[in-house]
Amino acid sequence: MGTYDYDLIVIGGGGAGMVSANLAAGLGKKVAMVEKRQLGGECTFYGCVPSKTLIKVANTVHHARELLEKTGHGNGASVFREIGSSVMERVRSVRQKVYEGERPEVFEKRGINVHFGDATFVDNHQITINGKKLTAAHFVLATGSRAFVPPIDGIDGVPYLTNENLFDLERLPASMIVLGGGPIGTELAQALTRLGVQVTVVEMLDQILIREDVELRDIFARRLAGEGTKILTKTKAVRLGQENGKIALVVEDQAKNQGQVVADTVLVALGRKANVEGLQLENAGVTYTPKGIKTDETLRTTASNIYACGDVVGPYQFSHMAEYQARIATRNALLPLAKRVDYTHYIWCMFTDPELAHTGLTEEEAREQYGDGIKVYRWEYKATDRGRTDGEEVGLSKIICDGKFRIVGAHILGSRAGDVIHEIQAAKTLGLPLYKLDSVIHIYPTFSDVIKQPAKLAYIDWLRSRFYVRLASMFLGRNKAQG
Ligand SMILES: Cc1cc2nc3c(=O)[nH]c(=O)nc-3n(C[C@H](O)[C@H](O)[C@H](O)COP(=O)(O)OP(=O)(O)OC[C@H]3O[C@@H](n4cnc5c(N)ncnc54)[C@H](O)[C@@H]3O)c2cc1C
Repeated sequence: MGTYDYDLIVIGGGGAGMVSANLAAGLGKKVAMVEKRQLGGECTFYGCVPSKTLIKVANTVHHARELLEKTGHGNGASVFREIGSSVMERVRSVRQKVYEGERPEVFEKRGINVHFGDATFVDNHQITINGKKLTAAHFVLATGSRAFVPPIDGIDGVPYLTNENLFDLERLPASMIVLGGGPIGTELAQALTRLGVQVTVVEMLDQILIREDVELRDIFARRLAGEGTKILTKTKAVRLGQENGKIALVVEDQAKNQGQVVADTVLVALGRKANVEGLQLENAGVTYTPKGIKTDETLRTTASNIYACGDVVGPYQFSHMAEYQARIATRNALLPLAKRVDYTHYIWCMFTDPELAHTGLTEEEAREQYGDGIKVYRWEYKATDRGRTDGEEVGLSKIICDGKFRIVGAHILGSRAGDVIHEIQAAKTLGLPLYKLDSVIHIYPTFSDVIKQPAKLAYIDWLRSRFYVRLASMFLGRNKAQG
């Protein structure tokens, strides 16, 4: 280790940083983790955990309300209003529970020293935190990202929300403008609508959720609008102000016609900005752009002893991708034989209701890449027995294969899509053609039918494409004709 205080200092104690520190400690290295706020980072405090808790409550309310209405028992308005107003308390208590497993003591027990404060590089082996100097042979940068707030005219004069202060609200507002129809804006828009907030989503592009498979995205968007979320696409937010204690947003359509949307509050969900400021990365020779820290395929930065991972690097800003990168960055920082990142099997899920899970190419992307020789296998949730028992009206799977039945993409809109998709993800990652899944025994009755049935269809297609099967059917066909 030479004369350094540590083998590795990890900067940032979010998902990526915690994985990195744990792995390095597991390898028997002397490790420190530096965090400027609380360990746990965005996922625990302002991202996955609070948003998924909010979504769970919102969905429970929605389905209970539907049941009451369907069975002629009213709409439970007063009860649900009560639940809606206490939802943020539940959100905060769940994130506290998650944080219990991420407290500094948990890491200290594993031999990881935790330091709180802003880290600033002196050179590529030395940082200062609150005036204290720490040195390390290697660093892993995992400082994450935050909400990107564009310079919309008037934005600094209004009390806007981002994912960082939304979950601190004591009561839900009656109405909200959500700027941005990406995954974060859409998940929150649906949950808040279900909790009784009048939500208007403002999206500049032609559609919300532009990275999703068009067919599934459109089904979901219709459902969202049907539940009462107002969606303004091809609409630009041009000016924010306040009127009679409310937020007034001037919007403009593509023909430059202006209009106004008024609501109690506004949530900015317009993308992410990498946390690179204040680290004095220049002193360490680490190059970055406003999009994040530059790395090579081994996640090494332009300084040879410094690696980076997670949202501060991208391109896929999800907790599971941050964890994947953290393992590779840490391993490469500390061990010989560098491993490269491979994003072929990127995956994500939008935790709306129904969930929309995504791995690999969409149908449109696959057609562009492979031409019309691709095969698209699909199965509707309502055509499965579990879908029937559970009354699933909406949802389907689409599994896209190349000419050799290799899975190049899969998209599932439906209950538990984020769980169900893993069978396809495993097959895709392991290079198994879709028809092989036909030989897997699946539990009955489960939503896994939306994978099993397409696998059966692929198996039949594969059999029919075999030379001996074609020959046999030709022969049998001739015999039949003769007989
Ligand atoms: C509303 C919302 C919902 C989301 N839901 C999901 C989901 O369901 N599934 C999913 O996979 N992903 C989800 N994400 C994305 C996920 O939260 C991020 O991809 C993940 O948290 C990135 O982890 P990270 O460790 O790279 O960064 P972070 O979790 O942001 O951690 C970075 C840490 O570094 C610290 N830091 C920053 N600068 C310094 C400095 N100079 N010195 C010391 N410390 C510093 C920060 O305080 C922070 O704790 C969601 C995000 C949002 C906003």
